[in-house]
Amino acid sequence: MGGFMKRNMKKTLILMMVMALVLSACSPATQPTTATTAAPTTAAPTEPTGMTPGKYIGEVRGYNAMVKVETEVDAEKILSVKVVNHEETLGMGTNAVELMPQKFVDAQSVAVDVVTGATATSLAIIFSVRSALEQAGADMAEFTVKPAPPTPKDAAYDTDVVVIGGGIAGLTSALQATLNGANVILVEKMDVVGGNSIRSSGSFNVAGHPMQIEAIGLTQRSDPEQFIEFTMVGGHQMNDPSLVRYMIENSGKAYDWLEEIGMEPRFNERSTGASVPGNAPGLVVGLQERFLAEGGTILLSTKVTDIVLKDGAAAGVIATSKDGGTVTVNAKAVVLASGGFGANLDMVTQLDPSLKGFVTNNSPSATGDGIAMAEAVGAAIRDLNEIQIHPTVHNPSSTMVTEGARNAGAILINTSGKRFTNEVNYRDIVSAAILEQDQGFAYILMNQEIVDSNTNIQGYYKIGLLKKFDDIAGVAEFMKIDVAVLQDTLDKWNSYVADKNDPEFNSAFDWRRDLSTGPYYTIDVAPGIHHTMGGVVINTNGEVISTTGDVIPGFFAAGEITGGVHGGNRVGGNAITDCLVFGMTAGMHSAAYVGK
Ligand SMILES: Cc1cc2nc3c(=O)[nH]c(=O)nc-3n(C[C@H](O)[C@H](O)[C@H](O)COP(=O)(O)OP(=O)(O)OC[C@H]3O[C@@H](n4cnc5c(N)ncnc54)[C@H](O)[C@@H]3O)c2cc1C
Repeated sequence: MGGFMKRNMKKTLILMMVMALVLSACSPATQPTTATTAAPTTAAPTEPTGMTPGKYIGEVRGYNAMVKVETEVDAEKILSVKVVNHEETLGMGTNAVELMPQKFVDAQSVAVDVVTGATATSLAIIFSVRSALEQAGADMAEFTVKPAPPTPKDAAYDTDVVVIGGGIAGLTSALQATLNGANVILVEKMDVVGGNSIRSSGSFNVAGHPMQIEAIGLTQRSDPEQFIEFTMVGGHQMNDPSLVRYMIENSGKAYDWLEEIGMEPRFNERSTGASVPGNAPGLVVGLQERFLAEGGTILLSTKVTDIVLKDGAAAGVIATSKDGGTVTVNAKAVVLASGGFGANLDMVTQLDPSLKGFVTNNSPSATGDGIAMAEAVGAAIRDLNEIQIHPTVHNPSSTMVTEGARNAGAILINTSGKRFTNEVNYRDIVSAAILEQDQGFAYILMNQEIVDSNTNIQGYYKIGLLKKFDDIAGVAEFMKIDVAVLQDTLDKWNSYVADKNDPEFNSAFDWRRDLSTGPYYTIDVAPGIHHTMGGVVINTNGEVISTTGDVIPGFFAAGEITGGVHGGNRVGGNAITDCLVFGMTAGMHSAAYVGK
């Protein structure tokens, strides 16, 4: 691990230097050269600013690509801010694009808060506006005054069902309960919904759907019985078998439900898993829009701190709004869908010290707040130390490279240019194999056909993470290895594909395509913290179970906050299925509990 960490520190430094160069290229030397919010000053404006009126362009790299911002000023004021060009992610960066511009006009300052959940895009806009003001000759001391914080306001709401968290599990529960006739308020601590869900690749497993069986017959992935077995073995038999069976037997219903609500799901090229157009952002935004259209309410920037029980039954939540006010939601049922704790590195390393030093690919929202809140009202918690590392994370950027690449035929090679494992094995096995390699990392090698097969992979190329080479000689030169060794690896692999048999590592790939034609693409990857399998104990109604083994009336949970579905190791694609199936279930049963 040591060599790898050092190597990545070097890479991080290079990235920071590149970022500094981008920033300095866009603005004068006074621009901060690291990605932090402009430092506020306490100085009040005393002199007229004397800016040269006009429209100025600032352009700074956001999350996916450059964000171009036009700022119009007169001699004294910021008149307008417009994002004129961007490629930011739907439901994440697009929220910053929508919400940030007015903040500068209202505050007459660049010392405004970022939109949480869309930090990179927010910072790009802040630095672009700052650059524009500097181009206009502004006295920056006047435009970096931190706006006065708003006065805290308390608020109270009454509803049937309150849902904590706006990821796929929370949005699905909220929508389902609403469709069943309940009044629902969803409370989300970030400025945008989405959590880990919107960062995901958006593919989910389905087994037993008639369309699937017609396409591929009964296989390990399409036959519910075989897939239950596969999931249990993957989870080291630590999973709750009743939850696994329930999830898999209802996965086809989740697919049909998405169809019913107009999300147009489709199976992947092997008919094993499915996704919706736009992948995870498409799914999150689609669920959110449908929930709002059905009359649901979302309270953003509102962090739940306590679940309230009255006479032993769930009765609502207490939360804190961004301005510090207390928000009380009185409800007849509570659905906890606050996600996992993969971004809470203190909690992760306390539970599993061997994970010290690993990066996380989780959203900053994944801090595990729900665990303490549920424990405080007597919920049973299980398997907290079962934390999954995903084998293929581009460590310098913490970007996960989807299993879709390896499932489509990409191979893993070490720094000597050799394969070393069955690429499509369970995550824990592939992760361990990578960590055993020189410097604890590997390269994914794929070709154009694989890139063309998956929009998530195309996204990695777009943001500059995948390196492209016309031929294998280019890859070998980049990796600083003998091209003959790499060619030998490829020749062997291509012959295994032709024979549908991998005598070296017994790959379970379905031999759809080989790597005989370029262009080729590579990316360096190492394991990173990915999923927390443990959490609140539930039954197949999504009801939360207490430490005494009883149902806590009116208290439901779904998604990554729960434990038991994935046991000791989650199978790729099962988390979103979990969120959809148990989200629908918690929504249905909470609505029934409140008499709908
Ligand atoms: C990079 C990445 C890729 C992935 N790809 C896939 C994939 O392709 N397929 C798959 O099946 N799984 C995938 N996963 C796993 C999967 O995305 C998650 O397990 C799943 O989306 C979790 O959904 P959730 O709704 O339970 O939680 P989240 O999506 O994390 O949502 C929880 C929400 O609760 C909010 N919240 C937390 N605490 C509070 C509080 N105190 N008050 C109010 N709100 C709160 C959070 O802000 C967040 O919005 C991936 C995960 C990652 C990180």
